[in-house]
Amino acid sequence: MHPDTWLISQGRPTELGDPLNFQPTMASNFRLPGERYYNRTEGTETAGALEELIGGIEGGRTLAFSTGMAAVAAVFDSLAVGSTLVIPEDPYHATNGLAVEGERQGRWTVRRLDLADTDAWVAAAVDADLLWVETPANPLMTVADLPAICSAPRKEGCLVAVDGTFATPLVQKPLELGADISMHSATKFIGGHSDLMAGVLTVSDDVLYDDLWNRRVRLGSTIGGLEAFLAIRGARTLPLRMERSMENAAILAERLDVHSDIARVRYPGLPSHDTHAHAAKFMDGFGAMMSFDVVGSGERASAVVEHTSIVNNATSLGGIESTWERRALIPGQETMPPTLIRFSVGCENVDDLWADITAALEATKN
Ligand SMILES: *Cc1c(COP(=O)(O)O)cnc(C)c1O
Repeated sequence: MHPDTWLISQGRPTELGDPLNFQPTMASNFRLPGERYYNRTEGTETAGALEELIGGIEGGRTLAFSTGMAAVAAVFDSLAVGSTLVIPEDPYHATNGLAVEGERQGRWTVRRLDLADTDAWVAAAVDADLLWVETPANPLMTVADLPAICSAPRKEGCLVAVDGTFATPLVQKPLELGADISMHSATKFIGGHSDLMAGVLTVSDDVLYDDLWNRRVRLGSTIGGLEAFLAIRGARTLPLRMERSMENAAILAERLDVHSDIARVRYPGLPSHDTHAHAAKFMDGFGAMMSFDVVGSGERASAVVEHTSIVNNATSLGGIESTWERRALIPGQETMPPTLIRFSVGCENVDDLWADITAALEATKN
């Protein structure tokens, strides 16, 4: 079944007389004896429906978590003391914080590699325990050569996990390329309306699934019933939203790229992007995230993001509404270029967005 159809038709009650949608199950425990005992362990049927939806399009079994970081933490938690953890030079800042803290506690050694340097990742697979590949990466939009990294010969037990939040499960399919774990912050595109926090891990190996299931129980990071309900509601329109937002992103990236007030655009779909060739090799579309540098100072970049009336100056991403932010102002991101604006393109009319953006650039000229 095509993902568009799967996301709409599956994850529903099927008995005669049932409502078409699972209701948000708001309960910590269940009457016994029964299949479910306690929400933190078995989760709710609402969460189960979300897991069915995402697992079906990723090609594996999904575990839903309370946040994206809870999903990341469950994977890192599986590392034995003394492991080698390989991460990109500049991963999502909370992922970085978790890696740094674990290293400080002596739990693992962190190795940082340039995402664009495929040979370095392939070589690392021979003696690392976990390759954590975030692609496209935040906020420089570097795309890893996932097919090459996932098929590299590995040390026994070495896991490859992919944070594909920026791509969504529609645009890239890590498990099909040979990764062990596909992770998404469902807070972003899957939820799609900036109204929930959630995360998902999808795996194809049953032993790994059971191990991560147990970690979720012990770490206490099961998704809530209302969040699962909202994430399902969001996931049903993911293909429609992605179609529009990717179309908008491609148009805006091209226009920004030739605008005299923009110094540089980073969008995987632009042939000039440093890792466009990787993206073209295996992504199905180029996503709706980009970053660009305005000509001038960091102050001008701040003024631009504050000036718009349609694009929201807000840090999160993946919503139906466009958001952008000056990245260097985010705690932990001070090393980013001061003029860099990270842009999550939404589903508004593209010409309204363009008018909003160009008015902000015009108003901040000096
Ligand atoms: C947001 C995000 C996360 C963390 O997800 P939360 O839902 O905020 O916990 C991890 N990776 C990437 C790429 C993200 O954008």
